[in-house]
Amino acid sequence: MPAITVDDVTVLPRVGSVASQPREVMSITTAPRGFEGEGFPVHRAFAGVPLEWLDPFIHMDQMGEVEYAAGEPKGTPWHPHRGFETVTYIMDGTFEHADSHGGGGLITNGDTQWMTAGSGLLHIERPPEDLVASGGLFHGVQLWVNLPRAQKMAAPKYQDLRAGDVGLATTADAGALIRVIAGEVGGISGPGITTSPISMAHVSVSRGAGVRLPWRADFNALLYVLAGRGHVNGTPIRDGQLAVFGPGDELVFGADASQDSRTNDMEVLLLGGAPIREPIAWAGPFVMNTKAEVLQAYEDFQAGRLGTIPAHWGLGGVSG
Ligand code: MN
Repeated sequence: MPAITVDDVTVLPRVGSVASQPREVMSITTAPRGFEGEGFPVHRAFAGVPLEWLDPFIHMDQMGEVEYAAGEPKGTPWHPHRGFETVTYIMDGTFEHADSHGGGGLITNGDTQWMTAGSGLLHIERPPEDLVASGGLFHGVQLWVNLPRAQKMAAPKYQDLRAGDVGLATTADAGALIRVIAGEVGGISGPGITTSPISMAHVSVSRGAGVRLPWRADFNALLYVLAGRGHVNGTPIRDGQLAVFGPGDELVFGADASQDSRTNDMEVLLLGGAPIREPIAWAGPFVMNTKAEVLQAYEDFQAGRLGTIPAHWGLGGVSG
């Protein structure tokens, strides 16, 4: 897993825990497989978990991990969003993104695209032509972060977070590599600027190593296993599973001493945020507070008020 790697983690700052109340595990769920866009394979990471436990997060797809044959890589057609933020983190392979607000770019191997849809836009997410031609390994995550009512109709925004800007740390015994993408974990900050306060980190845990991390008591706490197997506060967990933690100020997890041959480390994504605690009306690509606002979003989209496909993309279908 390229993401961002460090040859000698012992040179990194150590994140220890002086916290006192380890969070217990409230649920472990297994992500069902699905297909997104033009048919790329995903795991629906949050399926079956109540929205109030996920708040402020609403949806997450693990994209791949998949080894594409030549000509096989797929993306999405142009489609709209309103009312939340999409966060796309690519560990292996490359993804191209463009939106009707002028945002976009190419991300690869540890980069993150942070798109605040706000009042609305159209966008397209797809592998670049050279990757379609060659095929290859593809592995990423797309997370949807809700916006509070006061921010849902704010102007769209776009942040490109480069792998080299990610905040890096390790644990007391150097058994883990912690990459802070947004917010803060144990005093280490990431480059993402978030609308509502959240923390997002990708942690690689060495075989047999344990991790204790301080975690803000006012944040929820989610741990998704991208690869490998281990335990969360004593409960077994493996790739494709999500743990939701209860109240407390510390996360305790670790990797099993033996792993499948295809992964060296247990790879986990940690998410936490301050719950927004507002009603959610969600249909397709729109996440609002009321059903009337969702209907308005469809109307605005049909009327072209969420933007149009930039001219140089030519005429393509827009799917809602
Ligand atoms: Mn999208």
